[in-house]
Amino acid sequence: MKHFPIFLAVEGRRIVLSGGGDAAMAKLRLLMKTEAHLTVIADDIADDIRKWADQGKLRIIERAMEPGDALCAALFYAANEDDAEDARVSAIANTEGALVNIVDNLADSQFITPAIVDRDPVTVAIGTEGAAPVLARAIKADLEARLPTQLGVLARIGKTFRHAVEVLPMGRKRRDFWSAFYFNNGPKAIEDKGEAGVIPALETLLDDHITTTAKDGHVDLVGAGPGDPELLTLKARNALDKADVVIHDRLVTGEILELARREAIIIDAGKTGFGPSMKQADIDALIVQHALDGHHVVRLKAGDPTVFGRLDEEIEAIEAHDISYRVIPGITAASAAVANIGQSLTKRGRNSAVRLITGHDTKGYADHDWNALAQPGEVAAIYMGKKSARFIQGRLLMHGADPATPVTIIENVSRADQQIIATTLAELEPTLTRADLQGPAITFYGLAPRDAVAHSHQIKEFA
Ligand code: SAH
Repeated sequence: MKHFPIFLAVEGRRIVLSGGGDAAMAKLRLLMKTEAHLTVIADDIADDIRKWADQGKLRIIERAMEPGDALCAALFYAANEDDAEDARVSAIANTEGALVNIVDNLADSQFITPAIVDRDPVTVAIGTEGAAPVLARAIKADLEARLPTQLGVLARIGKTFRHAVEVLPMGRKRRDFWSAFYFNNGPKAIEDKGEAGVIPALETLLDDHITTTAKDGHVDLVGAGPGDPELLTLKARNALDKADVVIHDRLVTGEILELARREAIIIDAGKTGFGPSMKQADIDALIVQHALDGHHVVRLKAGDPTVFGRLDEEIEAIEAHDISYRVIPGITAASAAVANIGQSLTKRGRNSAVRLITGHDTKGYADHDWNALAQPGEVAAIYMGKKSARFIQGRLLMHGADPATPVTIIENVSRADQQIIATTLAELEPTLTRADLQGPAITFYGLAPRDAVAHSHQIKEFA
């Protein structure tokens, strides 16, 4: 970019032009749109320019330019259509501190005047650095046709109304209001009633937007449970009923998403296209952005959002923007899975504590108090434990756990394709590798399925 486009404040400032013929008139037509003080200096002045002077639009000095004529001028135009004279006058203007433009002489000009589409106060300036004036004209013609002629009037009146629109929450609500005004209600008001119709139209439009659509954004962080829609809480169902936007995890089932309001926008935050999972920071930003737009956002997470759900990161992002939120708990995979093998997570005389552990953390395989876990009677529900199974098995055996300790793996808990695999610590691998599970799976260390379950042929053999 050899020329930097800016909008120069010229209200009340001097713009001086040397020349009185056609080139001068062409520039003056543009310059008269500004609120600058215009001075035209030439010993031969066209009639139109005299007329404009009579109308008070500019001042004439009827002689050749002299030193001192361009003092305090912001801009100076040399429009004599005579190279020698233009060079002489621009040298004067230059020493007097004005920015100089020589008509049709790009090389010696300090600035150029763009092609302009004028919908004051909306102004579009088009420049090609002198390379393609034809192109600039074509773009200008295109924009002239595209931008409603009343756009300027609407923008001017709209500006006086901006304060009133602050009752609408920032973001989507305000954008919706203004685009309805500029492209719909505003032009229509001018057409029907002229400029006088614009303010009443703005008032009506604002009332409509306040009563029908004004609401603050809100986020519900909702547990979707393990997959069976009947394991949703009533609160979760109600939230889905109200959602404008649902942002869900990969593990949330289609059956549950079906329950969302018809008009809701459903966003899969578990996958972006065919690529890898979305980054947590991007998910946080997505939630915040939709809430700031005034939406009721349901952030739908598998199981319970408070269990390995990266809930706190999302809450922090939401709180940072002062957005209201609530956490709606869900049934975590361990609860649903243990119910389906007919056992309890805790049992008098067996284990008075249960651990929910993860096979993975941000650094890779997660470390735990293996020594404590290796004691008889200990129970742990292992989330995200498929890849780390061999590691966990190795650690527990190394710390003296009984190789015969029961281990139960439940895949696709509560779904039609649920599978239960009963094994032992010694057999965890290779059993898991042989089973080649594709769905989410939870592993219970220290729990075997109750006999009744075992006898109902639900259990798969992979040993
Ligand atoms: N917040 C979730 C856990 C998210 S971590 C919850 O409370 O359940 C993801 C892990 O959860 C999976 O790797 C798997 O171990 C477990 N999981 C989630 N849904 C499951 C399901 N339907 N069946 C089996 N395991 C599940």
